[in-house]
Amino acid sequence: MIPAKREETVKNLIGKLCLTGHLKKAEWVTVIRERTPAAAEYLFDLARAVRIRHYGRDVYIRGLIEFTNYCKNDCYYCGIRKSNAGARRYRLSQEDILACCEQGYALGFRTFVLQGGEDGYFTDERLCGIVSAIRIRFPDCAVTLSVGERSFDSYRRLYEAGADRYLLRHETYDAAHYRRLHPPGLSAGHRKKCLWDLKKIGYQVGTGFMVGSPYQTPENLADDMLFLEKLNPQMVGIGPFVPHHETPFADAPGGTAELTVYLLGLIRLLLPRVLLPATTALGTIARDGREQGILAGANVIMPNLSPPDVREKYLLYDNKLCTGDEAAESLNDLKKRMEGIGYHITVSRGDSLNV
Ligand code: SAH
Repeated sequence: MIPAKREETVKNLIGKLCLTGHLKKAEWVTVIRERTPAAAEYLFDLARAVRIRHYGRDVYIRGLIEFTNYCKNDCYYCGIRKSNAGARRYRLSQEDILACCEQGYALGFRTFVLQGGEDGYFTDERLCGIVSAIRIRFPDCAVTLSVGERSFDSYRRLYEAGADRYLLRHETYDAAHYRRLHPPGLSAGHRKKCLWDLKKIGYQVGTGFMVGSPYQTPENLADDMLFLEKLNPQMVGIGPFVPHHETPFADAPGGTAELTVYLLGLIRLLLPRVLLPATTALGTIARDGREQGILAGANVIMPNLSPPDVREKYLLYDNKLCTGDEAAESLNDLKKRMEGIGYHITVSRGDSLNV
């Protein structure tokens, strides 16, 4: 096909996605593989319009508390994998976590995200205690957990303790691709089962994947988009894969900001009311990555509320954006950045309209 014709085809498919909220697998592959800068501009115009229709120019913030970097898993891409003897391990105590929330609350955060490795120290009992302590002290705030795969019963207990939301990226839909990114014992099937369990229990669920992870093909991404349509989550987190020097993928090429923002635009059209963060990984590989993400249809930012001395230890990938700045300073910087592009950070729980 001649290039101009190809671009027309991609634009037509983007238009179809916008109108119907659906593409077939082969169409997804075409939209992704044959993209051009002009098609991307067309996409971003539509995605911004859809985002503004539902969420105005509001940007929701979530305070990210990285409370443990111990992990029993050995994901090949992740800097805090069990086999990385170079990682300096830490855990925050309940008091530390509550102090982070206290500081965050004063700054206007109304959602706290507790993220960590799969750390056996945090039994249901300990984690439920932390979740309920946060809910009691900050009754107008939402608590989000992001602590990996657990049993149905464990998820249920955490929900009953007061957790409202759960983030668990499916990482990649395709079972064979999943096996190339994870050691035996971890499977795409089990990861997905966890997501359906979380939904069934009543959590607002976030899923997602890395962009440009090793061996990823446009067909894999097409499957990821079809899975998003099927799961219909409240939130979708995507960010570029960024290599970490002490992992088996140290020398693999990273994902690009260009493809990441393109996919953000597509996800905005696929799930118009979804919560869509412009992630730290995107801000890490491009100085204006988060601004680019917002302008492609994203509406959430997740600044770090972890104590500055542990931030440099929660290194999932190299050069992670983790200034030693106080939370207040980095929030001010973000506010200015958002205002610079005509958007504004709001003080609210920022619940999804996608219910
Ligand atoms: N243990 C939790 C939290 C994982 S960290 C869980 O299993 O869900 C959150 C996300 O960081 C992961 O889901 C993964 O998609 C992303 N991540 C990990 N290593 C990365 C890397 N090298 N580059 C980019 N993103 C990475």
